[in-house]
Amino acid sequence: MRVFNTMTRQKEEFIPIKSKEVNMYVCGPTVYNYFHIGNARTFLVFDTVRRYFEYRGYKVNFIQNFTDIDDKMIKKANEENITVKELGDKYIKEYYKDADGLNIERATVNPRATEYIGEIINFIKDLMDKGYAYEIDGDVYFSTKKFSEYGKLSGQNLEDLQAGARISVDERKNDPMDFAVWKSEKPGEPSWESPWGKGRPGWHIECSCMAHKILGDTIDIHAGGADLVFPHHENEIAQSEARSGKPFANYWMHSAYLNINNRKMSKSLNNFFTTREILERYDAEIVRLFMLSAHYRTPLNFSDELLESAKASNDRLYNAIGNLERLISEVKVQSLLDEEKIYINVLGGYKDKYIDKMDDDFNTADAIAVIFDLVKDINTNVGVESSKELVEYCLNLIRELGKPLGILQKSTIEDLNSEIEALIEQRQQARRDKNWALSDKIRDDLKARGIVLEDTPQGVRWKKAD
Ligand code: AMP
Ligand code: ZN
Repeated sequence: MRVFNTMTRQKEEFIPIKSKEVNMYVCGPTVYNYFHIGNARTFLVFDTVRRYFEYRGYKVNFIQNFTDIDDKMIKKANEENITVKELGDKYIKEYYKDADGLNIERATVNPRATEYIGEIINFIKDLMDKGYAYEIDGDVYFSTKKFSEYGKLSGQNLEDLQAGARISVDERKNDPMDFAVWKSEKPGEPSWESPWGKGRPGWHIECSCMAHKILGDTIDIHAGGADLVFPHHENEIAQSEARSGKPFANYWMHSAYLNINNRKMSKSLNNFFTTREILERYDAEIVRLFMLSAHYRTPLNFSDELLESAKASNDRLYNAIGNLERLISEVKVQSLLDEEKIYINVLGGYKDKYIDKMDDDFNTADAIAVIFDLVKDINTNVGVESSKELVEYCLNLIRELGKPLGILQKSTIEDLNSEIEALIEQRQQARRDKNWALSDKIRDDLKARGIVLEDTPQGVRWKKAD
């Protein structure tokens, strides 16, 4: 498998530290609000990366943190008149609702910054002992010029960065590029005891510390949205590598933005839709199809037209699935016919192509195109004359290729069952209400779709008309 590494700016063969295992750390949300579908793009992309590694037989330790202490958290908690802890609890619960709603697999661990304060303090102490951090009146800063490789991820050098930076009046640090790893307590803010007095951790230190605690000094993949390359990931590298003397991550992956009218979707620009709003309008599999129809390193523009087109694509794929599901009960032959054995090889070719595309830096756009080609081939060549074994093979293959993308996992039969059960219940209610016109209409509509209702002593049963 080949992965584009932001550090080297090229695709590289993926070589795990431990055979057939991937340790990955993805920067997660600040839990002060519902997440928007720009954030969702990043979460979905790395969920897909993780699923695909699993598909290729790797065991994946997937860590995604919750930032539950920072300026935004404190401001929002004050506005809502609750504690920062209560705010975090609330939006972590909401995060899981939306992430589950998008079929995002649960992380192996979702560490919260505030649960690692002791470890963060020890991490900072190590940095001070090694001369990489210094204290001024209860604030602790990382000294960027002590870390000679500062700037290597974003391809900038420290002198240029220093020249472009401005020191704000309230900061007492030695150098404009130094950044806070510990912030002294301000009135009304939550704080923890430390060797430097009461205070709280900076943002960057939490990820360095939690990645180290959970996964060790060197991890396989560190990932996040493109906005995190600088300064967040640059600072994480400086802290982690200064402390351990080892590379922090072997591969750095960054997903491009979800834009709206060609500007990054973000809370601060107030140009966002929450994931929740979108999930009310579209099924998760449609949202995933939309997001994954672009390569993860290409910016994607959000629009109703693109979502509608993803919906149409999804319908087309499910039409094929529906046909195959129906064929299973209609076909006459059970076992694979001789000529079908050759055809199965043709179908296997699509799987090889799909794997080629996904192995090449997770090219989901091309992989989806391969699924469409596969489905088109099946639509033309599989029918009532086919064997049950072939029909089942086709169905399983479509689902297998959909799984790493989190699409095509539903059954049209289950959908039909629940739809009919709901209509029967509506008809029963109409009868209880003596609304005979409505109850007759439901019965007739179902009959027009080939579904016959039978009143039995055990209740209403339905069957397909012969
Ligand atoms: P935040 O809660 O703002 O720290 O963001 C959580 C994650 O979402 C980070 O990995 C960000 O890089 C990512 N993110 C934020 N906005 C967007 C966007 N418009 N498109 C893609 N990813 C984004
Ligand atoms: Zn982070």
